[in-house]
Amino acid sequence: MKIFKLLFLSLFFFSCSQAQEKKVEESKFEVVKTDKEWKQELDPESYKVLCGGETERAFTGKYLYNKAEGVYACAACKNQLFSSTTKFQSGSGWPSFFDQINDKAITEKVDNSYGMKRTEILCAKCGGHLGHIFEDGPAPTGLRYCVNSVSMTFLPKDSLQNK
Ligand SMILES: [Zn+2]
Repeated sequence: MKIFKLLFLSLFFFSCSQAQEKKVEESKFEVVKTDKEWKQELDPESYKVLCGGETERAFTGKYLYNKAEGVYACAACKNQLFSSTTKFQSGSGWPSFFDQINDKAITEKVDNSYGMKRTEILCAKCGGHLGHIFEDGPAPTGLRYCVNSVSMTFLPKDSLQNK
């Protein structure tokens, strides 16, 4: 009987420590703000997408046809995400890139919503929802980062050089 009790207790502790580890992982983002703070800082459309994981309507985004040279940053925390040199016309209705600006800009997460298995992309600095990544992009990566315009702020090349 004693052995069973011990076994039960160790199982209990094991699952507890696992839960704790998960909690640490969830708050790994450098920029952490409360939902209320984000709501105050962001415009309503950006808030719905970045914090609520929603998607802007296809072919409505302000950066869909933007061909200017520069950098796309996170609309919430200004973390630089994509260079205009990796932007391409995918025909999907959302701004598309074949690579992130560096390998630490974006975090990926499995998304099983709407009965589909997709990979969600998040800003690695604040955890804001950006869009999804697909494996049907052009060379050299074969990836398609499908991003909501409202999740990003475009920084024209000139404004970057003046800094
Ligand atoms: Zn961010």
